[in-house]
Amino acid sequence: MKIAILSRNKKLYSTRRLIEACEQRGHEPMVLDILRSYMEVVPSKPEVHLKGKTLDAFDAVIPRIGASVTFYGTAVLRQFEMMGAFPLNESVAISRSRDKLRSLQLLSRKGVGLPSTGFAHHPDDIQDLIKMVGGAPLVIKLLEGTQGIGVVLAETKKAAESVIEAFMGLKANIMVQEYIKEAGGADIRCLVVGDKVVAAMKRQALPGEFRSNLHRGGSASLIKITPAERATAVKAAKIMGLNVAGVDILRSERGPLVMEVNSSPGLEGIESASGKDVAGMIIEFIEKTAKPNKTKTRGKG
Ligand code: ADP
Repeated sequence: MKIAILSRNKKLYSTRRLIEACEQRGHEPMVLDILRSYMEVVPSKPEVHLKGKTLDAFDAVIPRIGASVTFYGTAVLRQFEMMGAFPLNESVAISRSRDKLRSLQLLSRKGVGLPSTGFAHHPDDIQDLIKMVGGAPLVIKLLEGTQGIGVVLAETKKAAESVIEAFMGLKANIMVQEYIKEAGGADIRCLVVGDKVVAAMKRQALPGEFRSNLHRGGSASLIKITPAERATAVKAAKIMGLNVAGVDILRSERGPLVMEVNSSPGLEGIESASGKDVAGMIIEFIEKTAKPNKTKTRGKG
């Protein structure tokens, strides 16, 4: 199969591993820098161009679209969908998962366990917002943040009020969330491929830190997940419409709570913690599933 990998850099671990996995299985991978590709949008003949050339059709496309380039990246992916390529994750599903509020609303609608969460832009009654999610300690998140930046633990009601006021002053969209203390600074990343969790790891924050992001110094280790965690991760990916997803779960006294569903999960941490060939499993999934024009929307969404 001719497989396009939409990525900004072929030296990145995940991109490298996907290239290797394609080659090992006799496919032809091509890494495409989404920001350098350009498109003509004409009736019935969608094309993608790169460096003065029209690209041939691909059988499948693996989107590895960074959060900062979601808008343009999903447009390029949509173009490939219109050309009939099978997207590992569809453009609509990626856009859906990049909107944290929309994601949590969709998950809550289907009864997936979530930390009690409030959204606000410019509330007149901050006290009520804090009360709504159960009071301090609570976690305040900037909606636009990634890798744990813009995620603050407010230990007291006073601290929570000040942080919320500060974020409001910046005119930022914020999320206020119940602090899951019993998670003990750890979360579980479940890597879903198709309808299975193929690998899982526990990320543990440094002592004195509650954010377990590897970018914040957290460490990854192998973990055995419970059937409830497995089912929750698969259900969350399915609700988002993602074939491949990294589902982040907090272990709470009331069971698994989903924090986030990531549509371009990194492979380095999970492959080294689990010892699994996740890239290979992704390519096998494409082999089993890819058929021309096999998307729900064909670029309509
Ligand atoms: P980002 O998307 O920037 O990584 P997250 O929402 O995933 O931000 O939060 C970063 C980390 O903070 C999580 O991996 C988790 O360890 C911790 N965390 C986030 N929300 C909560 C919460 N409600 N209760 C306990 N810990 C949390």
